[in-house]
Amino acid sequence: MLNLVLFGPPGAGKGTQADFLIEKFKLIHLSTGDLLRNEIAAKTELGIEAKRLMDKGFLASDSIVISMIKSKLQENFDANGFIFDGFPRTVEQATALDHLLEEKGTPVSGMLCLCVEKEELINRILHRGKTSGRSDDHDVSIIENRIRIYNEKTKPLTEFYAAQNKFYKIDGMGSVEDIANRLIETISSL
Ligand code: ADP
Repeated sequence: MLNLVLFGPPGAGKGTQADFLIEKFKLIHLSTGDLLRNEIAAKTELGIEAKRLMDKGFLASDSIVISMIKSKLQENFDANGFIFDGFPRTVEQATALDHLLEEKGTPVSGMLCLCVEKEELINRILHRGKTSGRSDDHDVSIIENRIRIYNEKTKPLTEFYAAQNKFYKIDGMGSVEDIANRLIETISSL
């Protein structure tokens, strides 16, 4: 199985590249951001609680996202592999993912980290905000909070995966196609 962690700051292009990679490698796309937005749209209790945090640029709770991923892994037992997009975002989530995959007898194949300059991230998110309908994509101070939380809580995961020899840094600047080609080259070498 091919299990890819697509990693990088908000606005790095994870969702765009994931759409492309699931086609190419026939993988299941698991985006915790999308799963949370589904809960918000369905007005579930979990969604209402998550929205409160997401709207300010804070993370949803580890236990919520871990249990969402757990049930998706169980639902898709015959998959070729998975692309984890926006998950894990904390060391606790990364540890939980390792355990969940261990139970399935299939480890993370690699963590692909898209590197993008901060100014470009903010521009991309503001641009996306014009059509995304996402309440966290409009306000620069909320976007900056998301980037700050990424640097504080999520970026340390690069070391978590480097310690397992699974960390791959990908230049996330340039055209969507160029970035996709860089990803494919790395994934093909895994
Ligand atoms: P982006 O990568 O552009 O921030 P996402 O859709 O991945 O977009 O995430 C949007 C928001 O959803 C995050 O700011 C956070 O509040 C919440 N979220 C998504 N994934 C997680 C996660 N794994 N853990 C906690 N919160 C999450």
